[in-house]
Amino acid sequence: MRISDRKDLLRVKKVFVVSSVALLAVIGVVLIVYLRRTPVIYKEKEAFVMGTRLRVFLASKKFSPESLDDNVIEEFRRIDAKFDPYREGSVIYKLNHSNGWVKVDRETFNLVETAVRYCYTTGGAFDPTLGRLIYLWGFAKFDERKSFRVPSKEEVERALERSGCKKVEFDDKDLMINTNGVWLDLGGIAKGYALERSYALVKNLDPDATGFIDIGGEIRIVGPKYGRAPWVIGVKNPRGPGAIDYIYLTKGAVATSGDYERYFIVNGVRYHHILNPKDGYPARGARSVTVIADDGVTADVYSTAGFVMAKDWRYVLVHFPEIGVQVMMVLGDGKIVKSAGFEYYEKSR
Ligand code: AMP
Ligand code: MG
Repeated sequence: MRISDRKDLLRVKKVFVVSSVALLAVIGVVLIVYLRRTPVIYKEKEAFVMGTRLRVFLASKKFSPESLDDNVIEEFRRIDAKFDPYREGSVIYKLNHSNGWVKVDRETFNLVETAVRYCYTTGGAFDPTLGRLIYLWGFAKFDERKSFRVPSKEEVERALERSGCKKVEFDDKDLMINTNGVWLDLGGIAKGYALERSYALVKNLDPDATGFIDIGGEIRIVGPKYGRAPWVIGVKNPRGPGAIDYIYLTKGAVATSGDYERYFIVNGVRYHHILNPKDGYPARGARSVTVIADDGVTADVYSTAGFVMAKDWRYVLVHFPEIGVQVMMVLGDGKIVKSAGFEYYEKSR
């Protein structure tokens, strides 16, 4: 082969390599632009779980949003079946109907321990040991309105004696719990826990997934709308249709506890499902309490605790923000009060 032929061959090779690289670069750019332009499609799925409506509204480019929705619904069903205190066969049912120490799995141990810890940090306002009282008032079953009744003073006192976080003992070495006769009821934390578990599940599958999960008005943001915009969430009017406020969230969670969710009226008195652990009667002082927090568990726990503490609303407005929680309360007379930082979430930005 002549020298000039070899040079020609080298030149051809060079041109080939350069054009291949250029082509690959163009394909890469086109692909990136295409993926960026692919519209984010949200898929919504609904289910009835934990006695209320579960709405899953997610978008993902990695998985079909429907399959993410299904995963979330399945997780809610699992948690509901496992921790419903009044369902024979659940772990909590077993704990409530056993004497002495009961061996449990790690998840149960952690959740019950967390719930009892919140009992201490809320000064007893959030109390996961009110199962006997909740059962007595007829709030244990979601579907039987006819089970609602006003118990006698003696009945309330007897059930109250067999309640209280201080009674619950933990053995963290052997993963054992001794309820010492109290009935656990995790209704004030279970929704928040399920929201956090499903949030983690979705983010593990696709860190870029966006949307929200809504369990009966308690909402966990998975990611901003279309990756940038806030979700607009209405705060329900506790005494009528429509919303009394709107909040804008791109992350975190919001929960509302209200006396309008599960209640009955006898002789003009409203009896509802959030009990004051001090006297065993429905807590008075608020119609609803809305809490914004970084995660679903905190929002759930503190909305219930804030509701119970409503008579001390000035204390709540000052001290909840110290633990990173913003709060809005509709008091018993309809007056609305808010913590100073709540306003931040009332504007779209
Ligand atoms: P929420 O709707 O999150 O405020 O939770 C209300 C549910 O929590 C009730 O249906 C009960 O199962 C349970 N519960 C009632 N009173 C309390 C309380 N003082 N502390 C913790 N949980 C409670
Ligand atoms: Mg709650």
